[in-house]
Amino acid sequence: MSVLVLGGAGYIGSHMVKRLVQNNQDVVVVDSLVTGHRQAVDPKATFYQVDIRDKDALREVFQKENIEQVVHFAAFSIVPESVANPLKYFDNNTSGMITLLEVMKEFDVKQIVFSSTAATYGNPVHIPIKETDPQQPINPYGESKLMMEKIMDWADQADGIKWVALRYFNVAGAIEDGSIGEDHNPETHLVPIILQAANGQRDHIEMFGDDYNTPDGFNVRDYVHVIDLADAHILALKYLAEGNDSNQFNLGSATGFSVKEMVEAARKATGVDIKAQVGPRRPGDPDILVANSDKARDVLGWKPNYDNVEDIIKTAWNWTESHPNGYNDK
Ligand code: UDP
Repeated sequence: MSVLVLGGAGYIGSHMVKRLVQNNQDVVVVDSLVTGHRQAVDPKATFYQVDIRDKDALREVFQKENIEQVVHFAAFSIVPESVANPLKYFDNNTSGMITLLEVMKEFDVKQIVFSSTAATYGNPVHIPIKETDPQQPINPYGESKLMMEKIMDWADQADGIKWVALRYFNVAGAIEDGSIGEDHNPETHLVPIILQAANGQRDHIEMFGDDYNTPDGFNVRDYVHVIDLADAHILALKYLAEGNDSNQFNLGSATGFSVKEMVEAARKATGVDIKAQVGPRRPGDPDILVANSDKARDVLGWKPNYDNVEDIIKTAWNWTESHPNGYNDK
């Protein structure tokens, strides 16, 4: 029996595939390669280049493979792009989920672990954010993911499809051996941008806003290592395999770091005096986003191994130094 990883050629998906393969699990990967990289997929996984909205092609994968559980990472995730082009997000993310659930139902596959996001909460009502807090997204990306959670819930009530939604906060780092890592084009995420400034690919990092309501004025996020995140998915698969009910969990470290603190941590991790400048705020950025992840720890038994952002950044730096141009280096 195999685990199907949709979006397994992406940053988080490829780390998940690697972890599953290390656990001797049979893995099937479906990815459109629109944003993913074929080289990121572990050679032991069976790969299909398929867009999840292509129902016939998806059906063919379910026909050929003996799929027992699904992990779904195949979604667009850039907030400003979703504001400019919301229909792209509702089409690929939300509508893609409907196609996937229809095919799962047809082939009697009843367990799915889903990449959800802190963006489903919108502006938090208090910090740290709990799973039971109101979900009021402030951008189409968050809305598309909240709709996906709700669609799964109704599919559970009607068809018994059991799901776990993992709501990520900020993900960073790479596998320790540096074989895979983060490579987006264009790059919008903080840690890879800081590291591009460290290795000379850009002159400096622009810190978006220094007038937030936080101790140092820079906005605060909760960073989790990508391998700790992948391990939470493996625990969620186990949770579903044991016959538990659908559920949702925040995945964060419960510790917040400001943009400035992240730059300082990166200076220590890399030994490079990274240039940083203060720029205007980026629209839609709340002051602080920090997760309460007690539920994942209590119910799933999740224990993140990385509790220090400097160590997280070191693993990302290892990848950046060995692949300065990302997967184009291969
Ligand atoms: N950020 C920044 N400069 C950059 C990119 C990001 O100051 O070039 C800040 C951004 O405002 C946010 C944090 O870094 O506070 C994390 O942003 P990222 O885009 O990595 O993740 P998000 O929180 O949007 O999911």
